[in-house]
Amino acid sequence: MKIHEYQAKELFSSFSIPVPEGGVATTVDHTVAIAERLLKTSAAVVVKAQIHAGGRGKGGGVKLAKSVDDARAAAQAILGMQLITHQTGAEGQRVKSVWVETASNIERELYLAVVFDRASARPVLMASEAGGMDIEEVAEHTPEKLLKLPVDPAIGLQAFQARQLAFFLNLPPEATKQTVTLIQNLFRLYDEKDCGLVEINPLVFTKEGHIKALDGKINFEDNALFRHPDILAMRDIDEEDPLEVEASEYGLNYIKLAGDVGCMVNGAGLAMATLDIIQQVGASAANFLDIGGGGSVEKNQHAFRLLLKDPTVKALFINIFGGILRCDRLAQGIVNAAQQLKQEGKPVNVPIVIRMKGTNVDEGKRILAESGLTYAVVDDMTAGAQKIVEFLRQPVPA
Ligand code: GDP
Ligand code: MN
Repeated sequence: MKIHEYQAKELFSSFSIPVPEGGVATTVDHTVAIAERLLKTSAAVVVKAQIHAGGRGKGGGVKLAKSVDDARAAAQAILGMQLITHQTGAEGQRVKSVWVETASNIERELYLAVVFDRASARPVLMASEAGGMDIEEVAEHTPEKLLKLPVDPAIGLQAFQARQLAFFLNLPPEATKQTVTLIQNLFRLYDEKDCGLVEINPLVFTKEGHIKALDGKINFEDNALFRHPDILAMRDIDEEDPLEVEASEYGLNYIKLAGDVGCMVNGAGLAMATLDIIQQVGASAANFLDIGGGGSVEKNQHAFRLLLKDPTVKALFINIFGGILRCDRLAQGIVNAAQQLKQEGKPVNVPIVIRMKGTNVDEGKRILAESGLTYAVVDDMTAGAQKIVEFLRQPVPA
């Protein structure tokens, strides 16, 4: 789960990580009120779009305001805008709230993060003097500018590691000292809140000599959320893919992908193999959907409807191996969903390829055959994927 910058900054504050003073607003008037208060003690404020994606600055979602009128104009421009960044996709993300904070006099922009590294199975701390920009670029083109230190989960972050990272940033002595403490607090936050990523980009060194988190990005480990009700309360489902939210309500394991072949599969292994084979024949999957084993007719029905709700789906590949799963229940779910869609005036209008084997397969095939649904049956996965490509190449009827 991800959270907004303003929520990350609230968490930073509660872990004694310094952040600029500010407030969150969903209306222009409220933005102006916050700006008015902050401008009493500072020369400028920054109005920042709150969306989960990064790269907001380049997309016009971060604006400096030196007066209340500037702040109003910034709020009018940002609130309600469709903000497009390299992380949002072409359609962008609608901005519902802004964070308004005291502007900082930036001397240097640094980078600091803790991320879980699956390869070494431990958290890795990262620091760089090249902050504020795309850290993936830094890692690729100038890896010497990025220091990575793995933390042994059994003994935790050692003080010497925090010092090593802080010294790497080449700050004056007092700021280095502040940074050592900040790194220790950052790791404590990562650890106590079961995060997968905590990133400060940029961490700024100000002209006044202070160290502050100017941005904050946190991802939490979904499987640990049950023990953090305070974190779960920060969830903003408007920022998540609506189909993924709906799938999670039905207990379906669904992930939206960029291609156009909708896949209905049981078991994560078979799902991966299906994605691979689709790729091999030159097509690409629109999703990863694992309907699991032992699902009811209703659950299968929801799964089928969900796939067809995705407008990018141009063909459906149903690839099922019934072990615990019963093919008859799957078939009934598909048929029910198709009938329901027809009644709603949205009949199935994409080609369907079905490869089905295992428990109660004959019964399942009979249910499908008697349903009046149009589909192609194949015996193995490769044939199925090839059939899909054939369908995709056919001209769309006018
Ligand atoms: P992101 O683009 O979504 O990563 O948003 P950030 O919060 O990182 O802001 C982008 C950039 O805006 C930063 O790297 C800074 O260069 C600039 N910026 C943000 N806040 C301030 C500020 O208070 N003062 C100044 N001078 N620049 C700022
Ligand atoms: Mn940033």
